[in-house]
Amino acid sequence: MAVMKFGGTSIGTVAAMERAIDIVMAERVRAVPVVVLSACGGVTNKLIEIAESAGKSDIEKAMALSGEIRAHHLELVEALVHDPSRREAANMAVMNYVDELEELIKGVGIVGELTARSYDSFCSFGELLSTTVFSQALLDSGCESTWLDMRRVMITDDNFSMARPLDEICSKNARDAIRLLLESGKVVVTQGFIGSTKEGKTTTLGRGGSDYTAALLGAWLQSDEIQIWTDVDGVMTCDPRLVPEAKSIRVMTFTEAAELSYLGAKVLHPDTISPAVQQNIPVYVLSSHYPESKGTVITNNPETLEGTSYSGLVKSIAVKKGQCIVNFRSNRMLGRYGFMAEIFSIFARNGVSVDMVSTSEVSVSLTVSKTASLEAVLDELRNMGDVEIEPDVATISIVGDNLRTSKGVAGRIFSAVKGVNIRMISQGASEINVGLVVEEDDVPEAVQALHHQFFSGSETSSIFEKPASQE
Ligand code: ADP
Ligand code: ASP
Ligand code: MG
Repeated sequence: MAVMKFGGTSIGTVAAMERAIDIVMAERVRAVPVVVLSACGGVTNKLIEIAESAGKSDIEKAMALSGEIRAHHLELVEALVHDPSRREAANMAVMNYVDELEELIKGVGIVGELTARSYDSFCSFGELLSTTVFSQALLDSGCESTWLDMRRVMITDDNFSMARPLDEICSKNARDAIRLLLESGKVVVTQGFIGSTKEGKTTTLGRGGSDYTAALLGAWLQSDEIQIWTDVDGVMTCDPRLVPEAKSIRVMTFTEAAELSYLGAKVLHPDTISPAVQQNIPVYVLSSHYPESKGTVITNNPETLEGTSYSGLVKSIAVKKGQCIVNFRSNRMLGRYGFMAEIFSIFARNGVSVDMVSTSEVSVSLTVSKTASLEAVLDELRNMGDVEIEPDVATISIVGDNLRTSKGVAGRIFSAVKGVNIRMISQGASEINVGLVVEEDDVPEAVQALHHQFFSGSETSSIFEKPASQE
């Protein structure tokens, strides 16, 4: 049995939903799958805008946006659900959710304060709506299926916006709630990204979290595979939006895929891999636009990996935008122990995670993602020394297992990006990646030059193929 996850762009429009329905129906012939959906493309961003507007008491703006969300889902129902009574039921369900969203807007708007808890409630409507439409459309296409509220299964801690599942409870819930439905031949359609605390408060797993939901369900249900259906032909040598000639990587190990997602390759949520590793379940990353193409299989199975060993240097280049550099300098650091621990404890206390670090005797530079809690960190740091911020930078990571044993890599990297101002460099920690921090505006030039340096020569191998979109 497969857990199939469809991302926002794979279900955002009538045509996309129709393609996804065909893919699910084809899978059902093999075995009845569990289908996990994201919100329709762009809807989560809109919900965040709604939440922020409501928090600032701009109810008019929030209502206008919720009107757009209502209209979009009603249009999907109109085009995809033909049976009159089913269409009415689908319309009613959409209207009820959007009414609920609007009640929330009014409530938050009147108080004028957005809490972490209500933020997650706002975000949850995207997945609730997409799955409502999809499951009705699937039924309308003659596929036996049922809609499941994931909040009955995914019980999480109360770390809103970044909640994590209570594994034992969830795995029991998943088996109890889903197994019987599958055995009765019903495709189960449910939401990615959302969960609930034990007390019934809605939570979310962090942006892009539907991949994680799919992987968790795969592990809890011991599925044969996890399929991540997206808008690209698998994991590629670089984000094809930055490097149009990027190639698809047909086979990867779990370690390589985990490294890439941690380093910013948005195609997979960073936590997706670990549940799959624990149960040794292969993860397929597949294109919903070209369902026949091979995509990427991520596995540690020696048989699948056989013949795919790669002697080239670099396997992929990942980019993480929205970063900033914090430069901290204090003469008090000179020869003192414990100073670094003090600095890091400030970041830890404020829940800000540090990505890259570079130090000298009296200064330290760190990269962090831009978050609201950064200001609190900076205030505390200013009490200890001089602080300087370089906003709008990105980390470019050059990833490959063979980097650790090869000579001359740094030379090739620096000659490729010689026209670009490099703000920080890191190599060593994970052994299989070299990281460069550059200004965001320089990302396209730097990444294209690096891709050309490492992927246009003789070392390109058969594990890289032209994606279906280039054929
Ligand atoms: P979904 O809505 O399906 O979850 P995402 O937008 O989260 O899709 O992820 C897919 C996008 O990830 C692609 O459109 C691509 O631009 C981006 N991406 C970044 N790095 C990579 C990479 N190495 N390989 C493939 N896609 C990548
Ligand atoms: N809808 C959520 C987001 O946009 C989760 C997901 O798409 O995976 O972040
Ligand atoms: Mg995603």
